[in-house]
Amino acid sequence: MHVVIAGAGPAGFATAKWLNDRGYQVTLLEKRDVPGGKVSAWRDPDGDWVESGLHVFFGAYHNLLDFLAEVDLADSFDWKPAEMIFALKGGKYASIEFVEGLPAPLNGLMGVAKSELMTWGEKLRMGRGLIKPIFGSQAYLDQQANITYKEWHLANGMGQSTIDKVMDAMALALNFQKCDTVSAKLVLTALLHFAKETNAPKMGLVKGSPQERLWDPLMARLQSKGVNIRFNSKVVDFLHDEAANKVNGVRLENGEEIHADLVVSAMPVHSLRKVLPASMRKHAVLDNLKYLKGQPVITVQLHFDQFVTDVNNLIFSSGTHISVYADLTRVSPDYHQGRGSIIELVVAPAEELMRRSDAEVIETVLTEFGELHPLARTSKLLKSHVVRIPNSVYSARPGVEQYRPDQATPITNFFLTGDYTQQEFMASIEGSIRSARRVIERIDQAKANGIL
Ligand SMILES: Cc1cc2nc3c(=O)[nH]c(=O)nc-3n(C[C@H](O)[C@H](O)[C@H](O)COP(=O)(O)OP(=O)(O)OC[C@H]3O[C@@H](n4cnc5c(N)ncnc54)[C@H](O)[C@@H]3O)c2cc1C
Repeated sequence: MHVVIAGAGPAGFATAKWLNDRGYQVTLLEKRDVPGGKVSAWRDPDGDWVESGLHVFFGAYHNLLDFLAEVDLADSFDWKPAEMIFALKGGKYASIEFVEGLPAPLNGLMGVAKSELMTWGEKLRMGRGLIKPIFGSQAYLDQQANITYKEWHLANGMGQSTIDKVMDAMALALNFQKCDTVSAKLVLTALLHFAKETNAPKMGLVKGSPQERLWDPLMARLQSKGVNIRFNSKVVDFLHDEAANKVNGVRLENGEEIHADLVVSAMPVHSLRKVLPASMRKHAVLDNLKYLKGQPVITVQLHFDQFVTDVNNLIFSSGTHISVYADLTRVSPDYHQGRGSIIELVVAPAEELMRRSDAEVIETVLTEFGELHPLARTSKLLKSHVVRIPNSVYSARPGVEQYRPDQATPITNFFLTGDYTQQEFMASIEGSIRSARRVIERIDQAKANGIL
């Protein structure tokens, strides 16, 4: 059986691997000239890596960690202490440190208690307010899908000050939007994982560029097993046979048709929407994808002539545009030999900055960064990169959860994978690998039932 998978991001790669294992003939199509989707990297004219975004992996990412172990890439991460470090103005830091040796949720609650970020009143209200989700069920979380995190937080006795100091930074890191617009379910899901599993908050960063550390070795492995990976191959249409209720393959931008017994979309939802013909959108589940919008985000890389931080971990900031960042020369061994800091920042909320020029984005980011890290003000900025992603992960706003589709569709041989599809994790790499596992389960089921 020949399967075409559209999209070589994490979900597309995992689906390709597992279908290849099952004996399918796999063609993996990618519209860009680089693999990895939102976890991609490419070289600038000097040969330095530019990344689509700073990526953090957690101990809770079991689907991803198992997948990487399967393909001999378990050693791709440098694990860091489980700690949320906040940069404060003037080069100071404050943190919430998950206390080692204590089981969850005590490690986190004790971390909050010991943190100098909040007053005792705020800590007590936070501890009391978080009891419900910590000991709550999935059903409780599901009920919070239609309100914002801010509404949930205030309704549960916690104040605006803890949103400003901690929770906005967390919401921005998770979905690139603040607590007043993000769904309560998304933030509570992350908190619940941390509260239920002692190792969940352990954080890892890729040891170097995702291209060299993840995708190059993974592609070599898949290609050696016969997977056909094609770049610059943008899918623009599905060959839908409405009468037979199936898809016969895909059409590429250059007009080429690729026929297949099975088609899996591993594209982000906004790209899939553009490709779906009207005949397929007659199915409500596919038409409803219009309610899933992409969240804008900008990645900025700043190369300095000196080292401007000494933190070997992720850094958060509150009340700025630079929600989370890291000094690659400190956190990733492949970058250690740098001449000065390479700071990679996630810029969010990005709606307003998205309309400004690169020079204006850099000016805003540099000013805010300089207030947090005064050494940057006396250092020379050697070069910078601005990567704009107008539609990144799906925007987890209240009310949209119901439109996340299952991996099986009403069209018998057409399946979906990707972080926006139904799975227990949010829009994350773990979510994308989990969705790939689920699409395999659906395909296996359809085969066992004689549908395929
Ligand atoms: C700045 C940033 C930081 C992030 N940080 C983290 C983090 O720290 N931790 C975490 O867990 N997650 C993080 N994420 C989220 C994570 O990157 C995504 O959840 C994950 O990449 C989703 O994988 P995917 O395979 O579903 O989709 P994608 O990664 O989007 O891959 C989809 C692929 O489909 C291709 N495609 C699109 N249209 C077509 C077409 N017509 N034909 C063929 N191919 C097509 C795309 O080019 C892409 O390669 C971050 C995302 C961003 C943008």
